[in-house]
Order: sequence, then structure tokens, then C-alpha cells
Amino acid sequence: MKSFQYLAPIPPFEYLAPGTLPELLDILSSHGKELQVVAGGTDLMIALKERTAAPKVVVDLGRLRKELGGIAVRGGALRVGALATFAQIESSPFVARYAEALRQAAANVGTLQIRSIATLGGNLATASPAADAAPPLIALGATVMLQSSAGERTLPVQDVFVGPKRNGLRSGEIISYVEIPANGVRSAWTRGAVRKENVLSTVSVALATTVQDGKFGTSRVALGAVAPTPILAEKASGAMTGSEAIPESAERVATLAAEDSKPISDIRASAHYRKHLVHVLTRRLVLRVLSELTAP
Ligand SMILES: Cc1cc2nc3c(=O)[nH]c(=O)nc-3n(C[C@H](O)[C@H](O)[C@H](O)COP(=O)(O)OP(=O)(O)OC[C@H]3O[C@@H](n4cnc5c(N)ncnc54)[C@H](O)[C@@H]3O)c2cc1C
Repeated sequence: MKSFQYLAPIPPFEYLAPGTLPELLDILSSHGKELQVVAGGTDLMIALKERTAAPKVVVDLGRLRKELGGIAVRGGALRVGALATFAQIESSPFVARYAEALRQAAANVGTLQIRSIATLGGNLATASPAADAAPPLIALGATVMLQSSAGERTLPVQDVFVGPKRNGLRSGEIISYVEIPANGVRSAWTRGAVRKENVLSTVSVALATTVQDGKFGTSRVALGAVAPTPILAEKASGAMTGSEAIPESAERVATLAAEDSKPISDIRASAHYRKHLVHVLTRRLVLRVLSELTAP
């Protein structure tokens, strides 16, 4: 029974804590699927207890904060290291300036204790459909940098998510950082949940847009917890782009976002309620961003 399983000791594993990036890449290339990296451990510890993960080798990234952490602006992009914690993201002036939606999502993850150790890289690699960092990053057109002994490659954030708890990383690859275009878009995030704190989102919505000459510029609406992976709401984004920047536009964007969503019913909400929530939250978010962008 699950409750007894929690009391049973976690099967032993070898623990490695490399101090340099070459050392890490070497370890990653010399072990196959029996290896798992750990950052904050807030997802992995639960997976170990539930036996949904049973690695023979656990590689701690904690000594590589200099290489895989930090938040900086470089070459026209905001770079957030995989080991940046949600507390660091929440308090970063760079994130507030270029990726406000991500800052808002970070400020709502778990509790202060969770935010102090849970990392951005871990949130994406776990590939939960409800990962709160994903919709802001998808809306902002962010990419992840992946690293292995074979070299580097980039992936759009939505391609990191392949299915529920299935990521698009190859064996021996880690996320080293996330890059967000540092342009002038305004972004925001909101969510619905069964209570205010320390609970996964029932639905989350992020929006990134601009207003020029009375019209919305390129706009991206992204949704969490309403499909097997976080998604770009394509119909809603397409309809918002180029539409009149007036409150009346919000209703159509919200209707199309609900059409874009493909939720299931589960312990947190029915599919029907989730679609309703997508409509309500998207409408609210469009109105909020519009009033921020058109405030005198
Ligand atoms: C009480 C509680 C509340 C929570 N609330 C929320 C919430 O509100 N919103 C939300 O989205 N999540 C929430 N979570 C889930 C979790 O905290 C986040 O997903 C967190 O960001 C995971 O990061 P971590 O550093 O702890 O990952 P870890 O547990 O260390 O790792 C998670 C997975 O990612 C892999 N991994 C870690 N780093 C990398 C990397 N750099 N490259 C490749 N793979 C990597 C690991 O191998 C593992 O498979 C909550 C969890 C708990 C326990």
C-alpha cells in the first residue's frame, strides 16, 4: 500500500557531487538511464519515495552554482541558469524587467521553503503539465540550452515537454540555462488553484504582448494544466495579434483560449470547469495587461 511504501527505506544509490562542469559531463556520458541528476530535490525526493524513480546513481548539481546558476542579461537576452531557484527568480530585477510573467509565477510556487530550493531547471525537466514556469516561458518565446559531452543544443521551451512527466532531453543531457528575448513585451501570469498556497495549479495562463497604434502586436497566450503538456494557445494568440487594443477584444481571445485547451478531469477539477477557468483567467489577464499598457 502507498502509505506503507513511504515508510520503507529508499533503495540505496551511489551519490556523486562533481565540482566542475567537465567532471559532470564525464559522469553523464559514462552512465546510461540508471543515472539521475538532482538540483533542489523537491520533485526527485517524492519520486524516490513513490518508487517512480529508482536511479542507481544520483548526481548532485549543487556544487556547480557558478556554472549553472545566476541570472544575467547578455547579448539582448535574459539568461536564467538552470540552478536559479524560484526565490532568486522572484527577487531578480532583470526578471521583473524582461519576464514579469515568470516573476509572478515564481512568486506563487509552493511555499517559501520550496521556493528557496526548487530550481527552474528541475521544474522544466520534471515535465509536469502543471509546471508553473512553463506557460510564462512559452509565452515569452524562451529557449533552453542543453549540454552534454557531445556538445550543446537549444530547444524551444515547449519542446522540452513531450508528455506528462516525459521530457525531450537525450540521455546524458542536462539543462544549463534558459534564454528569454529581452525585448519590450509586457507579460503577466495568473492561475486558478484549489487554495491560495502550496498547491499545484488547476489552470495557469500566461500572456506576452505589446500595444502599438491602438493594436496588439505579436501576442502569445500559453496555458498550463489543461493538456498533456503546457501549450501555446495558437488560436487565441493568432486572434489577439493585430486585433484592436480595446477591452472588447478580451472576450474573443478568452473564448479561443478555452477552445485551444484540451483538459482532462482529475482530482483537482473536471475538464468542463477547467475550460471555464481558462476563459475567465485569460479574459482577466488580457484586461489586466491592456490596462497596464494603456495607463496614462
Ligand atoms: C510541497 C511542494 C509544492 C510544490 N509546488 C509547486 C508549484 O506551486 N508549482 C510548480 O510548478 N511546482 C511545484 N512543486 C514541484 C517542484 O517544487 C518544482 O517542479 C521544482 O521546480 C523542481 O525543481 P528541483 O530543483 O527541486 O528539481 P529536482 O527534484 O532536483 O529534479 C526534478 C527532476 O528534474 C531533473 N533535473 C533537475 N535539474 C536538472 C537539470 N538542470 N537538467 C536536467 N534535468 C534536471 C532531475 O533529474 C529530476 O528528474 C512543488 C513541490 C512540492 C514538494
